[in-house]
Amino acid sequence: MRFLIFGPPGSGKGTQASKIAETYMISHIDFGTILRDHLQKNTKLGKEIAKYNIEKGNLIPDDLAIEILEDRLKEKDAKKFGFVLEGFPRTLAQGIAIDNFLKKSRLKLDAVININVDEDLLVKRLMSRRVCANCGESYNLLTNPPKQDDICDKCGGKLVTRDDDKEQVIRKRFRVFKAQTEPAINFFRKMENIIDIDGNRSVDEVFIQIKQKLDKMVK
Ligand code: AMP
Repeated sequence: MRFLIFGPPGSGKGTQASKIAETYMISHIDFGTILRDHLQKNTKLGKEIAKYNIEKGNLIPDDLAIEILEDRLKEKDAKKFGFVLEGFPRTLAQGIAIDNFLKKSRLKLDAVININVDEDLLVKRLMSRRVCANCGESYNLLTNPPKQDDICDKCGGKLVTRDDDKEQVIRKRFRVFKAQTEPAINFFRKMENIIDIDGNRSVDEVFIQIKQKLDKMVK
């Protein structure tokens, strides 16, 4: 199975993508985490990515993003198990590129999930987000707190606030989402069965909506 998941920053798409991956036994590919990994490991691509200050909410150029994504989709797990892809496409050009890539590889998307959330709730949620500095697991002090303050339940790593989860940067990322990513969503809206989800609810309620709709589509 192959799914795309869209939603503005803070819509909970990462949390939902993890649940989808676990439920349908497919790979969870989070494009933002791939970029941060390259940066942290200071790889050749990481040096290139570093030029664009993603921690300030800027997108990396489409060509570079497409190259990184295609490499990831060619890996064994993505081919064998399928995937839920988060954080890509983020622009219309990326949407067209992944559509071409899938067609060339004779692959089809089973569903495109779009999570909608009000802007003020997004800001509140993101300012409460913490991520594990060690394994990347994501928590939210309001909706999905860790068992122990500042400690990752999964690996015991230290929980930190991402640089791009500051209010000014959050508002900028939301503007970028509206201007750049909505055209990509509309591109898929014309071509695929999009599942629109009300993301203003709890993690479990949102997942119930998604699962009910996916179960109908993938049968
Ligand atoms: P995320 O973890 O998905 O919020 O991504 C963190 C940051 O990485 C974004 O704010 C962008 O600066 C950059 N980024 C993530 N995905 C993409 C993409 N598909 N194209 C360009 N830049 C991206």
